[in-house]
Order: sequence, then C-alpha cells, then structure tokens
Amino acid sequence: MSWISDTQLLTDRQNLNGDILPLTNNLMLHVLGNPRGNYDQSCQSVSNPAIRKLIVTESVGPFKVTGLKPAVDQLRTALADVKNEIPEVYAVLNTAGMLCVRYVRGSKSSISNHSWGCAIDFTLEGKLDARGDNRAQKGLIAMHPIMNRNGFFWGASFKTEDSMHFEISRQLLLAWQRDGVFGEPKDLPQEAHRFSIGDRGPEVEWIQQRLNILNGFDVDEDGIFGPATRAAVIEFQRLHGLVADGVVGPKTMDALKNAPVQ
Ligand SMILES: [Zn+2]
Repeated sequence: MSWISDTQLLTDRQNLNGDILPLTNNLMLHVLGNPRGNYDQSCQSVSNPAIRKLIVTESVGPFKVTGLKPAVDQLRTALADVKNEIPEVYAVLNTAGMLCVRYVRGSKSSISNHSWGCAIDFTLEGKLDARGDNRAQKGLIAMHPIMNRNGFFWGASFKTEDSMHFEISRQLLLAWQRDGVFGEPKDLPQEAHRFSIGDRGPEVEWIQQRLNILNGFDVDEDGIFGPATRAAVIEFQRLHGLVADGVVGPKTMDALKNAPVQ
C-alpha cells in the first residue's frame, strides 16, 4: 500500500474545515427544490424537472461525473489544482459517485447532498476510505486544503466521519444563488436560513449545546437536527414566549444566544 491510500487518525475533526460550512436541507430545498418526492437508502433518480435540467455528465479531468452543472465545473477547477500540487494523488484518484438521490446513510430524515449532485465521494488507488473510524486516507488529507480553498466542505468533520466525501460549501451555494446561477436571483425566504428537522452541521451542534446549557435538556450534541432536537426547540420556544414551531429562525436564534441559564 502506498502512502496515498494508507490511513491516519484525524485529530480535532470538528475544526478541519475552518469557517467553511456544509449545506443544510433547508437551504437546498429553498434554493433548488426537492429532487424527488420519496427517499430511502438506495440511489434513485431526480424527478424534479427544474433540478434535472441542471444535471450534467462531464469529465472533470481524471474521470467523468454526473452532478449539478456548477458543482461539476467547480470540481474540475479544484482537481486541476490537485493535479498541479499533488500529481501523485491525482494519478490514483477516482470516484464512487456524485449524483445519488437518497437519505444520508443511516438516516430517515436527512436528505443527502448527493441528491442535488453537489457532493462527491472519492476513491484512491481504487479504495474507499472507511466511514466512521475517525481515520482518513493520507491522499484525502493532502487534498483537503485544496478542496477547501475551492469551496468544498470535507465530510471528515461530520458527526460520523465521512472522509471520502466532499460537498459544495454553504457559502459557495449562496454565492451562486446571489449571482443568478440558478436563474434570476430572488431574495431567499427567511426559512432558507432557518434550521429545522433534517438539517446538519456546526450550527445545529451549537443550537443543541445552547439548548442543553440554557434549559438542561439532554439532546445529543451530534449536529443532526432530529426529532429530539425538535422537541427540545419547541419546549425552549414555549418557555421563552416564542412561536413554538420547532424551527430555529432569527427570534429563536437570538433567544438561544442571549437567554440566561435557567
Ligand atoms: Zn458522500
């Protein structure tokens, strides 16, 4: 085994992506819509015609992918940098897939960002990095700053470590939306910036921490907005005289920031 697909323990996984944020279901559903009506764990097709017309199959350098047009273009740019900076990794780089409409593995509520063709799983020397072992192939570790710089979030920071996975960052998707990449730019409704069931990421983890600190809830601080988090949010909203809808919008966010510890 060469150094490239050899693995290494990841320390400080939560901070690997710096300020770069992952995509949330709420944002994706508001910007691009719902890829299809029903989901399970298998790869299904996009049935939403507005999304389908943005899906392309093109070469990104070392291989072909099927994905959302701007994400495929971004990936091609990122991989050109990989080729220049770490050609030995580029030479053994392949993919386990980009577009795949399904739930996040092991979830019954979070839609995977592969469903919009905005995420890519890599292989190195034909090997997939094992998920959930807090280790990553050294070639992926070498690629991650290049991918970050090109606007990709690394799945090594997910609650269940997923180092083969990179996805378009929240910041880049919002920039595309503002720049009219998805059609005439429109003001996104507040809901797009809200957090609710199915959302994942560092902000969700912060919400869970605040719920636990402020009101002594015992929500798993796993960064996944599931039914227990929703129930705690509803209770928090009720206690603070807010509309108890289980959705964290600006008012609930303010209360979570500023409320005294009970
Ligand atoms: Zn993935």
